[in-house]
Amino acid sequence: AKARGKNTFHFFSQDLKDAAKDRLELENQLREAIRDHQFLLHYQPKIDLQTNSVVGYEALLRWRLPDQTLVPPGRFIPVAESTGMIVSIGEWVLWEGCRFLARQLSRGLDVDLSINLSARQFRDNTLTETIARILQRTGVEPRRIIFEITESMLMGDTDAAIHQLNQLKSLGVSLSIDDFGTGYSSLSYLKRFPVDELKIDRSFVQDIPGDRNDMDIVSAIIAMAQQMNLRVVAEGVETAEQLTFLKQHNCTLVQGYYFSIPLAEQELSLLDFTIN
Ligand code: C2E
Ligand code: CA
Ligand code: CA
Ligand code: CA
Repeated sequence: AKARGKNTFHFFSQDLKDAAKDRLELENQLREAIRDHQFLLHYQPKIDLQTNSVVGYEALLRWRLPDQTLVPPGRFIPVAESTGMIVSIGEWVLWEGCRFLARQLSRGLDVDLSINLSARQFRDNTLTETIARILQRTGVEPRRIIFEITESMLMGDTDAAIHQLNQLKSLGVSLSIDDFGTGYSSLSYLKRFPVDELKIDRSFVQDIPGDRNDMDIVSAIIAMAQQMNLRVVAEGVETAEQLTFLKQHNCTLVQGYYFSIPLAEQELSLLDFTIN
């Protein structure tokens, strides 16, 4: 048992070294990615369930390595966040997203764009100015933009969070709570924040219609959102059964692989504007 313990320890510390090395490597690669413009955005359509039409998109960050591999955000955003690199990456996302939206609007499409904000960006007190400048320079009307933040960003210093939300709202943009239901939200808590939309986390959608509990949670969130006059978006919709359930409960908008994976801008134009 002793020998085994030793071995285990040995493997464990080697693992730690490997993890630290991987992380350093990733940090260096990320610095190069910023310098060499290796980021791109994909866009996932948002569908209005009343009209079955695409009413907007969510911008989702991708990192393309020099060998063309696409790195998903789950792999690099935590590192970008902890090193602070997410602030400059996030600013690029704002520019790129707004330029994309301006092109869509100039084609005559009536669409909006959801943009994810990271915790670091959200805490930055120059964020509102930065956004105002980007909107102005790209000519995008603020009402066309929805910023997605997570519940955890609203915890802790709630006064600071409310202040930041009000600053953003004063620009005329909309605010959405992403991954809703996974944090500690309650009705009283929600009422304190000037938000316009709730985004039901995929984990509650994926087991519909198998999981009675999840169905109850989803219908309760939709009912609560209606009561509070909030738009409600269900994410991660993959099946016709899920869609039927969400329609029956009057969910406002849906997103998911059932309609479309996130796509590059050139691929979007191939997508039929109305989805049946
Ligand atoms: P999120 O904001 O919750 O984005 C939804 C994620 O679910 C996306 O993963 C999307 O591709 C995926 N998804 C959409 N529909 C389906 C579906 O039907 N089934 C399944 N299984 N998945 C679906 P992605 O693109 O890998 O992004 C992961 C997370 O990375 C995002 O979660 C968001 O938290 C973060 N992220 C992405 N882009 C940005 C960004 O520009 N800035 C910041 N700060 N975070 C971002
Ligand atoms: Ca999101
Ligand atoms: Ca989400
Ligand atoms: Ca479940």
